[in-house]
Amino acid sequence: MEVKFCSSCGAGMETREVDGTLRRACTKCSFVHWGNYSIGVGALVVKEDKMLLVRRAQDPGKGYWTNPGGYIEQLEPIEETIVREVREECGVESTIKGIVALRDQPRSIHNLYVAFEMDYVGGEPTPDGVEVDAAGFFGMEEMEAMNVAPFTKWLVDVALRGKSDGLTVDGNPIVPLNGYGLFRA
Ligand SMILES: [Zn+2]
Repeated sequence: MEVKFCSSCGAGMETREVDGTLRRACTKCSFVHWGNYSIGVGALVVKEDKMLLVRRAQDPGKGYWTNPGGYIEQLEPIEETIVREVREECGVESTIKGIVALRDQPRSIHNLYVAFEMDYVGGEPTPDGVEVDAAGFFGMEEMEAMNVAPFTKWLVDVALRGKSDGLTVDGNPIVPLNGYGLFRA
């Protein structure tokens, strides 16, 4: 998927060296195609050793229980995005406590997922009826009988069972998660 036309001025693009790397760059203006990236955020809202989970009402992952989350917006600060996503999906108010994990997926659209540990502030979990059709706080034992998404299982383990000192690679995750760079923070 080579970029053919400049998204700034519409002129043709060429491949040339920019800062020591061959990149697609505009033949007429200063535009450089640096790549395609996306950043996801996830919330691990803990209340009395129970985790806030929502059940996905849409694909991808329809029917799976996951932690609330979404993608950052162009001009919205990341700390506002995560609080908004939790509120919109299930009506719970929360504040950021820290970052507990990162997931890196270098692929056609390079995705970085930032997992936040959040403090519960208030609100009864109520599904929005669009993105999610169920919501609630659940303990580890309850989750055993639920259809929890594999990546969410890993995040719950990180948040409830302990983290690392600093950023460490998890090369042997508790569930198979092939192709992910997983980091406990
Ligand atoms: Zn251009």
